[in-house]
Amino acid sequence: MTVEKRTPIPVSEAISRIINVIKHKEVKEIRIEDSLNKVLAEDVKATYDIPRFDKSPYDGFAINSQDSNDASGDNRVSFKVVDHIGAGTTSDVTLNKGEAVRIMTGAQIPNGADAVVMFEQTIEQENQFSIRKPFKQGENISFKGEECREGELVLKKGQTINSGAIAVLATFGYQNVHVYEPPTIAIIATGSELVAPDEPLQPGKIRNSNGPMIQAMCKQIGIEGTIYQIQEDHLEGCIKVVNQALNNHDIVITTGGVSVGDYDYLPKVYEALQAEVLFNKVQMRPGSVTTVAYKQNKLLFGLSGNPSACYSGFHLFTRPAVLKMMGANEIYSVIVDAVLDADFTKANPFTRFIRGKLTFSSEGIYAEPSGFNKSNAVVSIANSNGMIILPSGSRGYQKGDEVKVLLTDHQSYESELNL
Ligand code: AMP
Ligand code: MG
Repeated sequence: MTVEKRTPIPVSEAISRIINVIKHKEVKEIRIEDSLNKVLAEDVKATYDIPRFDKSPYDGFAINSQDSNDASGDNRVSFKVVDHIGAGTTSDVTLNKGEAVRIMTGAQIPNGADAVVMFEQTIEQENQFSIRKPFKQGENISFKGEECREGELVLKKGQTINSGAIAVLATFGYQNVHVYEPPTIAIIATGSELVAPDEPLQPGKIRNSNGPMIQAMCKQIGIEGTIYQIQEDHLEGCIKVVNQALNNHDIVITTGGVSVGDYDYLPKVYEALQAEVLFNKVQMRPGSVTTVAYKQNKLLFGLSGNPSACYSGFHLFTRPAVLKMMGANEIYSVIVDAVLDADFTKANPFTRFIRGKLTFSSEGIYAEPSGFNKSNAVVSIANSNGMIILPSGSRGYQKGDEVKVLLTDHQSYESELNL
């Protein structure tokens, strides 16, 4: 039997082959409390000015600034307090000369007032106060429309809804919003050596860690993936289950069985399902055998069974693809520059992705491997927050070299903020 010949393509080429075939799903209307991490399918415009009225940003007194013109340290100017308003109420008073209204943060500026004096800037007596400096027209006032004007674009179609977007929707009184229907995802671990995490181990067996890991990565982008029964390395069984998953879901992610081993059946599964293989060899390590196939706006991700390769494959290919299918404009992970904190002296013909730990210090961003670095490693994934990218070439890399790091997990640190 001859080993199938595959042509490795660059990572970026592999990514664009996937992204180019994907279309977003249909639009649906959902309640805003269900919209976190979904993608807006419509532009949202301000339906009124924000702020909606001139308001006080402080607790203090609303005055007419002209009345404060002569105030100084030697010549304190006094005001008579003629009304008192808290947030949510308004005053009918129009200020006469020398008058002021006691006003709380968020309350509407009364007629005749054009500045706010903070409590801290006054000496108070009963029903009056004095100040020692003049106030300018508009001082300490939040103006109507200073943040945005009615009709202004405030949220863009294709924007992923974050907590701030929910605040904007709530501001304008939206109860529902149009979003793109997110894709559904099936997750199938393949391999006769696999047992579920809650099953006892027998000789030669290992636990399926990729299934739960993929499900967690899907959850991080807001999708509840469906875990299918573990599949043994059995061609007919795999065809049947992958076919069933493809009928019921937009994306089918498998792990294992994409290599050229005797029991690696995924290539045959794609053939049997008449899915178009977009690529089956990528110039990367680990996970060079990662395979992606396409059929009628549905995608099949054949991730490697090796946990580190499975993880890298998801972040490089599956994540942007899912986000694209969700309709998002921003689909790629952030890549930052960092200083390598370890040696990788062995040259590599393929781009290497190393699960790494980034540390941010006042001197810069440093990246080091987060543990044992082989494609079958699992613990180092847990201790990583990024993937160090070492482009292919005839030379290795040394501690101190500038490298790029793709961020995979949110950054949190033990050390307290020093603000
Ligand atoms: P394969 O991609 O099927 O050649 O598997 C590559 C390596 O990954 C083998 O050592 C498998 O035992 C291991 N492996 C495959 N699937 C999983 C999984 N779901 N969880 C953990 N390890 C796996
Ligand atoms: Mg296998």
